[in-house]
Amino acid sequence: MMGTTGLIFNEPLLWEMGAKGRTAISIPEQQVPSCPVDENLAGDGPDFPDLCEPDVVRHYTRLSHWNFSVDSGMYPLGSCTMKYNPRTNERQSSLPGIAGAHPLLPDGLNQGSLKMMYELERLLAEITGLEAVTLQPAAGAHGELTGMLIFHAYHSAKGNPRTKILIPDTAHGTNPASATLCGYASISVPSDENGIIDPETVRELMDEETAGIMVTNPNTLGLFENNIKQIASIVHAKGGLVYADGANMNAVIDVVNMKSIGVDVLHLNLHKTFSTPHGGGGPGAGPVCVTKDLERFLPVPRVIKDGNRYVLEENFPDSVGKMHAFHGNFGILVRAYSYILSMGSDLKKVSQYAVLNANYIKERLKDVYHLPYDSDCMHECVFTDKHLQTHKVSTLDLAKRLIDHGFHPPTVYFPLVVSGAIMIEPTETESKETIDQFIEAMRTIAREAAENPEILHQAPKNAKVRRLDETGAARKPRLAG
Ligand SMILES: *Cc1c(COP(=O)(O)O)cnc(C)c1O
Repeated sequence: MMGTTGLIFNEPLLWEMGAKGRTAISIPEQQVPSCPVDENLAGDGPDFPDLCEPDVVRHYTRLSHWNFSVDSGMYPLGSCTMKYNPRTNERQSSLPGIAGAHPLLPDGLNQGSLKMMYELERLLAEITGLEAVTLQPAAGAHGELTGMLIFHAYHSAKGNPRTKILIPDTAHGTNPASATLCGYASISVPSDENGIIDPETVRELMDEETAGIMVTNPNTLGLFENNIKQIASIVHAKGGLVYADGANMNAVIDVVNMKSIGVDVLHLNLHKTFSTPHGGGGPGAGPVCVTKDLERFLPVPRVIKDGNRYVLEENFPDSVGKMHAFHGNFGILVRAYSYILSMGSDLKKVSQYAVLNANYIKERLKDVYHLPYDSDCMHECVFTDKHLQTHKVSTLDLAKRLIDHGFHPPTVYFPLVVSGAIMIEPTETESKETIDQFIEAMRTIAREAAENPEILHQAPKNAKVRRLDETGAARKPRLAG
């Protein structure tokens, strides 16, 4: 067992610790006469607990151990690319000159940051095959919104913004949400029996009121959309645009040129593919890459190279406007830049190993878990709970039991088209030994389900908390105390 054992602390709140008058600093005794404070300003102050430094450090260190993270073990959360993030990229982004740069610095004093942003745009353009890039969006979903605004601006410039967007039934929920935010109705495109989109289905749905299609490629079943070129030409023939959700880029870096398969607009999740720790709700970045034709609609300001100088330029009259204050989430951009430069031509191996690892897991588990689409997968594989159901065990039980075996559960019940889905994305950064341990845990759980399903119904037993009321947590959050 790894990772989650030894977590049974009963940690009090900070307010329940310490003692009146205890502090973490010592202030020298006052040697000057007191000066009366304005009565309106005086008072008891906020109700902060009285604690010394070790109380605070230990409290937060203990709490941090309750968390599962990619630094504590394998985190095979499908669609999320929870890869290990090399420390060197963290280090570059915390260099004082970078971390401390003020966002209001005039361009003349900010040449280094602007140059780095300019070069990162060029690198992402090269990686995707698309010509122009904005680094502003703060996450994938924000990139989608930017992309939909660009669709809207493009069609409006042609005289009709159009009213609908085609979205496959395997799509991430953020896709229809982003389309809706721009006023587009989402039209669901059913995937075929192989888990991908049939061009004939797109041909039937595509018309001149449809602004385009949003596809995730590889899709959320971990399958490459083999017909993407044909789909793109059907959409283009009706004047539509092709949006690619690039959240799954980890499978195809330096392997697929997105422009050559017909993509017009694509977002990347730097925090997934390009080395930023994520999952705790912290900052991310969702750059959007577009074809030359759509460049004029990109958000402002844009980093422009003027001779040897870099400037932030606002003057793009067709732009969709500003998507983020200042330079976007700059610290994330630095990590991605550092990651791309430090990987160099090995970026291709990232995708090759990510795909190899997922296929290895698929092959080693398909005799015990039901595989709904038995074809070569990309960077993730999707099983179902069909075999577990015979023992009255569900995907949720399996996920909870994996916690007892020391692994973060995979993504479950997504994509929605697969009943009881278990979506496993090992990423390229896990060693064969770790992947073998994961496979062993999955096989052990399949045996437990047959022999003693109660163990699964009672899981997790080693975690700090057992089964949470997830609906209650989302609907009635308790945000204080
Ligand atoms: C993660 C993900 C998104 C959303 O990205 P965020 O950065 O979480 O906003 C969109 N689509 C797919 C397929 C994803 O995996």
